[in-house]
Amino acid sequence: YSDEILHTAKVSPVVHASALSPDQRDRLYAATVDVMRTAAAARTGVPADRLKQAKVDAMRVHGRAGEACPVCGGVVRQFAFGGTTAEYCPTCQTGGALL
Ligand SMILES: [Zn+2]
Repeated sequence: YSDEILHTAKVSPVVHASALSPDQRDRLYAATVDVMRTAAAARTGVPADRLKQAKVDAMRVHGRAGEACPVCGGVVRQFAFGGTTAEYCPTCQTGGALL
């Protein structure tokens, strides 16, 4: 859920934790609680064989490279780091910068 939390918090996925402003830290904490509580509530009662699809369907940016950001309508982008990939919205999270 890291992509979703960072997107909700409007925080760049590449900013170092030590460089976060107090406001960014507050948004990150609030987004972590909100995204995880929302996910847990939304999946409660969902049959096990449908959990994965329900999770995928609820993602705003994760796994949605090339699709429209549901917040600003910009294009969700993907970048690679450390042998994995992540998705983010440049408009919402990096001031338009591509990673
Ligand atoms: Zn956006």
